[in-house]
Formats: sequence, structure tokens, C-alpha cells
Amino acid sequence: MEVIKQGRVIQIISNLFIVEIDNQLVECISRGIFKTREEKPVVGDNVKVKVEENQFTIIEVFNRRQYCKRPKMANITQLLCVVSSKHPTADLLMLDKQLAFAEYLQIKPVIIINKTDLDEEMAQNINSIYTKVGYPVIMTSAKNQKNIDPIKKNLRGNISAFSGNSGVGKSTLINNLLKQEVTLEGEISKKNKKGKNTTTSVKLYKLEEDTYIADTPGFSTFDIYEISSKELYHYFKEFEQYADHCEYQDCTHLKEKKCGI
Ligand code: GDP
Ligand code: ZN
Repeated sequence: MEVIKQGRVIQIISNLFIVEIDNQLVECISRGIFKTREEKPVVGDNVKVKVEENQFTIIEVFNRRQYCKRPKMANITQLLCVVSSKHPTADLLMLDKQLAFAEYLQIKPVIIINKTDLDEEMAQNINSIYTKVGYPVIMTSAKNQKNIDPIKKNLRGNISAFSGNSGVGKSTLINNLLKQEVTLEGEISKKNKKGKNTTTSVKLYKLEEDTYIADTPGFSTFDIYEISSKELYHYFKEFEQYADHCEYQDCTHLKEKKCGI
């Protein structure tokens, strides 16, 4: 007998798709019906699965609300952009790029200022800059497990990914968040795979219903190559109010004389 189910792709291992169906993980194959690479199921995809004699086959990928090429995943709703107050020095240029990228992909950005224990004043400064622009900001000290709960609250109902330079504390934050959470049946808990067994595939960790964290090994910051320099300014929130004052059609808003930005 044949049954049709709906599920969400949690991880991909070679040609095997790990799909969450009815709160359980199952291994699926994908039928070769997808014409292009982009149509193939990616992590985060909602899919239709045919179940027949214990054989699970993905037969359809539902429309994506969002798609990211690198790391390859779909339906991310929230990008947690992490900077540290110190060690490494806060890289605000990188932060701005990540925020722009989130706007571009229509993902809700949240700023996390980590390592507040190292330079409280710097953390406060960054906080006030970005709060003024209108971004949600959470200040944390992941090492001391300080202010992890506000992040948890923010995660609820979202598929969230982390972005930020290497060393800012993303893994420490993720480990904190995954600590006491119940994992899906069959899922290897993060704590148990600390060894050398480094998978490079993106993986979703379920925290609660409709709430996932994407672990994206190999990607510290998201790749923003897709935005051309001409359209980049659209995605900077703080430019919005000035854009109408710019006199040029093809302005790069860098150093043109009558540029409003
Ligand atoms: P990632 O590269 O962004 O994943 O950063 P990690 O989570 O690996 O953290 C890099 C280093 O910073 C590690 O030695 C952590 O113990 C340390 N670290 C993480 N969070 C904090 C924090 O809030 N305060 C301090 N002082 N150190 C931290
Ligand atoms: Zn301009």
C-alpha cells in the first residue's frame, strides 16, 4: 500500500535525504524527477514523500519561501549575526554585509553581541548603534551562559542560522542552546559528536515544534556574492531615509559628488 506524507529535509548525506516525518527521522531517496540542481531537495525543504513497503521516496519539493546557495539551504527565517566585543575585534563592516544579505534573502536579522565579559563598553556602543537603526540586539556571554534565554525566545517558530567571523563564539552559543534540548528520535546529539568525525553538510537541529537551528559547518559567514554592488545599498536599512536625496540614476553611493547617501 502506498501512503503520501509531508516532511522536512533535516540533513543530506551523499544521496540520502534525512527527513523529519511525524516527528521521526527517516532516510529517503529522491526520485530523479528534478530537472535542475536547484530543484533538488536541500536542507530545510518541505517535501512530499511517498511511503511504499518501507521505502521512502521524495516525490515533490514544495515552494521555497527562501533559498540560499552557499550554504545550500531553504526556508531559513532568521539570521543570527554574531559579533564579539573583543577577541576578535568587532568587525562592523562584516556585520553590515551580513545584515544586508539577510534583507536581500528576506530573512529576519538579529544581532548577537557576544563576549560582553571582555569589553562591556564596546558591547554597549555596538548595541546603541544598531538598536537606533532598528535591529533587534541581544548581548550575551556564551562562555558564562549569560543571556541565552532571550536567544531561545527569539528562536521559537523559526529556522535560524548563525553567521559571523570565526572565533566570535557561534559554536559556544549553539552548544548552549542545544544543551538540554530533546533531540529527535534517531538524531545524534551535538555533545556526542565532538570527535574527529566532522561532517561538512548543513544540518537542522530541532529544539521544539517548528523551531530549528541550522548548523553550517565550513561556513562562518554567509556568502553575499549574489548581490551586485549597484543594488547593495537597497539592503542597508540606514540608507533608506537618504535614498530619495540621491541625484544619480546609477549611483554606487560611494563618492559621487551629489550623492544623497
Ligand atoms: P566560532 O568560531 O564562532 O564558532 O567560535 P567558538 O564558539 O569556537 O569560540 C571561540 C573561542 O571564544 C572559544 O575559545 C570560546 O571558549 C571563546 N568564547 C566563546 N564565547 C565567549 C564569551 O562569551 N566570552 C569569552 N571570554 N570567550 C568566549
Ligand atoms: Zn548616491
